[in-house]
Amino acid sequence: MEDHPSQCIDSGMTCRELTDRTSDYLEDRLSAVMKMGMGLHLASCVGCRTYVGQISLVRDAVARIPKEVPSRINRLRLRQQFAMCRSTITYQRGGVR
Ligand SMILES: [Zn+2]
Repeated sequence: MEDHPSQCIDSGMTCRELTDRTSDYLEDRLSAVMKMGMGLHLASCVGCRTYVGQISLVRDAVARIPKEVPSRINRLRLRQQFAMCRSTITYQRGGVR
């Protein structure tokens, strides 16, 4: 993102500084002074508002993805299928000569 001064409010923060701290901002890991600076910058910079909004949407979407782990039986089936694929590929390579 290109740095530019805020249009209306002097937040004392550039766009680059804001984007560098976006994760900390969304996870509420900033000091009160830093949060205020980001809030002032966001109030006057549509580019950074859009950026923070998009990052927030992506983070929310990723958090909603179910974390599924294959069961023990499915892991065994997958290993067998991978082993069959590997042996087929090895056999085909050997047969091409
Ligand atoms: Zn900005």
